[in-house]
Amino acid sequence: MLEPLEIRCDVSHNVTHDCAFGSQLDVSHRADVVVIGGGVIGAATAWWLEQAGRDVLVLERRSEIGTLTTPNALGTIRTQYGTPTLIEMAQESLDFYRNIEARLGVSHAELAFSNPGYLYLSTDRDHGERLAGALANYQAMGVTSSEYLEEAAIKQRFGFAGDSVAAIFHGDGSFVDPARITGAWASGCESVRFQTDTAVHDLSPIADDGWRLETNHGDIDARQVVIAAGPYTPGLLAQFGVELPVRVTPRYKAFIPDDDPEHAAAPLVINIANGAYWRPVPGGVWLSHANVDDRSLPPAQTITVPPEFLDEAINQIEPVSPRLAETARHAKPSEVKLMGGFQVYPADDAPIIGEVPGTKNLYLNSGHWAGVMLSPASGRLMADVVTGAIAEQDNICRLGRFDDGTAQRHSTNKFGGWG
Ligand SMILES: Cc1cc2nc3c(=O)[nH]c(=O)nc-3n(C[C@H](O)[C@H](O)[C@H](O)COP(=O)(O)OP(=O)(O)OC[C@H]3O[C@@H](n4cnc5c(N)ncnc54)[C@H](O)[C@@H]3O)c2cc1C
Repeated sequence: MLEPLEIRCDVSHNVTHDCAFGSQLDVSHRADVVVIGGGVIGAATAWWLEQAGRDVLVLERRSEIGTLTTPNALGTIRTQYGTPTLIEMAQESLDFYRNIEARLGVSHAELAFSNPGYLYLSTDRDHGERLAGALANYQAMGVTSSEYLEEAAIKQRFGFAGDSVAAIFHGDGSFVDPARITGAWASGCESVRFQTDTAVHDLSPIADDGWRLETNHGDIDARQVVIAAGPYTPGLLAQFGVELPVRVTPRYKAFIPDDDPEHAAAPLVINIANGAYWRPVPGGVWLSHANVDDRSLPPAQTITVPPEFLDEAINQIEPVSPRLAETARHAKPSEVKLMGGFQVYPADDAPIIGEVPGTKNLYLNSGHWAGVMLSPASGRLMADVVTGAIAEQDNICRLGRFDDGTAQRHSTNKFGGWG
């Protein structure tokens, strides 16, 4: 059994707290680089920029960093994707997570990091061939930690798996507590200032290629600015005539209380027929489904989980986890918690990282629907772009890929968002 988690976001290190009434104000008005947004992507970007020797100020409109989308993630990490770009970024990121104590000074136990694997399951024999094809694709792209499982092996290894007949098990699949990861990046910083309760309303260029940011605490000047505002990034870019090829769509999860020891020791479990999935957490599981809504919706500070979500997710997971479905149906409503957030899906699923077209010294780190797992690689790449350490044509996440025909196509074996 996992130890109970204290869900917290330890951001006390270097956080500048503002007071709405003006006392105790310690507002910064200038920085070398300003990062707009204190989610996991903004915090990771700030850490990497500090490593590159930059003076960094992170502006976060909410009263704590890491409290909008990031803590609502499932905190799962994998390297199996359908395109080389995502695989490369995921492998770099997993490597960082494995060595995170040496990099950020945060232990695996503090982050609740573990490596139970990922299990793609199906009750449909016809999916066996598709799974085997996906496995061959992963291997061709250098991902070698996956194995194909026949029916007997599934039954022997995963007692909860019902009548599943085909599976792939990804041995490097890992978990992290999404409510702790932003604080981990922040606590790894020595000089970065995290200024909360500070909303950026507008940006305008000033002399010598810098930027002036209009905020609720007055103007803030910076030589360079990174927009890492999660679901709010497309809106901030609209004034520059830039329309990102992304959809901003809600995704939900439910906490289901559960004391089944086989579930507590399980990997991430996915029903590949419909994208429903779950992972164990202390005291229960988080259950979700990957029914990606094709509409793009305006982001919001709070999210209302549709009443049908829970039943849909339970019905969809039932074929590959019947005991869990039974437990979920009988759970006390007062103990089931529903949460969600907005994910940003680019047309080819890879993040969009680079300079904002038509501007100078204004950058974006966007397109994150898997930002917890990819934050190490995307923060590193963003810092390389800002410091000029990487040339535009070598940046695999540049926005220009959608115009120059280098955006990667998904493999034909792609399962929804599951690689
Ligand atoms: C149900 C669900 C499950 C998920 N599961 C996973 C998973 O298993 N693994 C995974 O890797 N990812 C997962 N994700 C996706 C992951 O949560 C996101 O990709 C990631 O959190 C994005 O981080 P971010 O920093 O870009 O955005 P956010 O966390 O939203 O941070 C953006 C920040 O910018 C701030 N901001 C916005 N506008 C302004 C402004 N004008 N001025 C100042 N501040 C501003 C916001 O307040 C916010 O704090 C999941 C998401 C959901 C909803």
